Amino acid sequence: MSEDLGITIKKDEDFSEWYNQVVLKAELADYSPVKGCMVIRPYGYEIWENIQAFLDKKIKETGHKNAYFPLFIPESFFKREAEHVKGFSPEVAWVTHGGDTPLEEKLAIRPTSETIMYEMYSKWVRSWRDLPILINQWCNVVRWETKMTKLFMRTREFLWQEGHTAHATKEEADEEARKILDIYREVYEYLLAIPVIPGQKTESEKFAGALYSLTLEALMPDGKATQCATTHNLGQHFSKAFNITFIDRDEQRKYVWQTSWGLSSRSVATMVMVHADDKGLVVPPRVAPVHVVIVPIIFQESREEILNFVKKVKDMLEGFSVIADDREEYTAGWKFNHWELKGVPLRIEVGPRDVKGNKVILVRRDTGEKKSVPVENVHEQVRESLEKIQEDLFQKAKTFLTENTVEAEDYDELKRLVDNKKMVKVVWCGSDECEAAIKEETGTTSCCIPFNGKKQGRCIYCGRDAGFVVYFAKHY
Ligand SMILES: [Zn+2]
Repeated sequence: MSEDLGITIKKDEDFSEWYNQVVLKAELADYSPVKGCMVIRPYGYEIWENIQAFLDKKIKETGHKNAYFPLFIPESFFKREAEHVKGFSPEVAWVTHGGDTPLEEKLAIRPTSETIMYEMYSKWVRSWRDLPILINQWCNVVRWETKMTKLFMRTREFLWQEGHTAHATKEEADEEARKILDIYREVYEYLLAIPVIPGQKTESEKFAGALYSLTLEALMPDGKATQCATTHNLGQHFSKAFNITFIDRDEQRKYVWQTSWGLSSRSVATMVMVHADDKGLVVPPRVAPVHVVIVPIIFQESREEILNFVKKVKDMLEGFSVIADDREEYTAGWKFNHWELKGVPLRIEVGPRDVKGNKVILVRRDTGEKKSVPVENVHEQVRESLEKIQEDLFQKAKTFLTENTVEAEDYDELKRLVDNKKMVKVVWCGSDECEAAIKEETGTTSCCIPFNGKKQGRCIYCGRDAGFVVYFAKHY
């Protein structure tokens, strides 16, 4: 493969530029003529669709239904919940005209749909019999980012799902926020082979308008943490602003308790960052659009025989997504590089000697490990290898996370460790002032207070008696 087709920068030399090359050259996405936006190409979209399909099934299995709400939100709705408007205002895109005519009320392009959905919920909920409302929406949202565009990671428009529920009690809303976080954890750990740290956001980092926010945090190989997905118990903040009330069993009128939760196309970015390597993408088998590529090594004298054999092998791999790349305008070597760049988990090579011996060569994308497999075992061996790759990718990422998540005993150590690309655990008193000072002075953000993260000690910043453990890291 020529220089400009392959990845020319090493992952550990210039992580950011390496990432851009992998996303562009593996044809996941491209920059758009509209500044800050991206074009998701078919191969990238297939990966997103696989994430969607997995998550959509779980969302439905837990009793939620999909629906669709308008892209436009009237300014007056948007402004009804004070914290929410404060949090989102800086990044809202507004529609002010229809054609040449100024609108009477300007319309926000949804940055998230709480306000447009809850206006409707206030009409739909009358009695305890109408609860819970369990609705999910798959859509795009727009947040007018000013930082530099990073495909899948930071773009002005992105894809996601947003769940919005209404319940009779706080306990039900608590349970919902935890249940969905567990599902999101499955998406990351089971499907994408990315280990995460679940926890609660600090007050200053919680969702604008929430009672509290739960999060999954992952550590990228460049030492930056990323927020993978969040769920929020919105308390009664929005139900009071939108007047969503119900008559309970005790005949009393009450405000509902609500949650909202989202997982976005950013998940594709984390998958690339965690698993891809100097040759290109590495796609975990459970989310891979293609599991196996069969590459025949064609010689004129045995051409027919080899192509028939390839067809036979492909037929034996029913149940997997298989491409037999028998294009004759490319060499076998070119194809090896091409499919490695695309991150296809397994390659099967078939040459004249393999046909004679009734076997194939099976090559793992993640390790490069090769083995010769009798053709009658090929289905079983592919199944086992894919499982092994999935497991090994997770374990490798888990080891990285464990090795790079460390505890700091004092403030100097915290500074040194975050500069050394670590996610750092510290004891903290819980005050906004200490958190803000740490962020400011170290250039970090607090990731989360891990579940069961109580620990007595002294605050790493102010030295007062403290009861919280919190992670700090540089962030995407
Ligand atoms: Zn403190």
